[in-house]
Amino acid sequence: MSYQIAIDGPAGAGKSTIAKEIAKQLDFIYVDTGAMYRAMALYLLRREIPVDDSEQISAASQKADITIAYKNGLQQVLLDGENVTSFLRTEEVGNMASVSSANPDVRKKLVELQRILASRENVVMDGRDIGTCVLPEANVKVYLTASTACRAKRRYDELTAKGEVCDLDVIEADIAKRDHQDMTREHSPLRQAEDAVLLDSSDLTIREVVERILALVKER
Ligand code: C5P
Repeated sequence: MSYQIAIDGPAGAGKSTIAKEIAKQLDFIYVDTGAMYRAMALYLLRREIPVDDSEQISAASQKADITIAYKNGLQQVLLDGENVTSFLRTEEVGNMASVSSANPDVRKKLVELQRILASRENVVMDGRDIGTCVLPEANVKVYLTASTACRAKRRYDELTAKGEVCDLDVIEADIAKRDHQDMTREHSPLRQAEDAVLLDSSDLTIREVVERILALVKER
């Protein structure tokens, strides 16, 4: 049996930074499921599928070929064979992903891929529904959150560091809207699994969060 660590939480709570570091320290693979939903969103945006047309989203999503590869230990997402990793972390793609990820056909397809990856290797997997739906038997489950203001500032810093011009208030509003969509959708909404440990990263350093999760791994 592979060892599974599930980290769920809202956008900008630090999930990917923390999950990557834990994977490195334990020599597990890191699976960023948000990147898969983003790749699907990119596919839909490129085909100009209307965001409110769930039938077209369902049909188109079944044609998208999304696969995962690793380069120097970093996850790469291939869309129809093209490495699209560098196109995924824009606000446009994130906002589309937040809507298209509510579609049950999109979820079914990507959850299948996520379960295959986790059955083959020891994983740290992050997302919104990993502990509640994708890996209900995960050895360690964490629900990582932080205040909305704190998460917006982190996203702002991440984007400006990449040279993107952005507005903190717009990012905060986008985050609040995305949280609302993720938490209120019908299929696999974002919520803390009953057996998940709650961690609020607002006033913790990355190292502190990593250490707390590693301590949980040692306990189990
Ligand atoms: O985490 P990230 O911001 O990259 O995720 C993009 C979007 O994909 C989220 O807003 C969420 O709607 C969706 N998502 C999801 N389930 C996951 C991971 C991401 O619905 N397991």
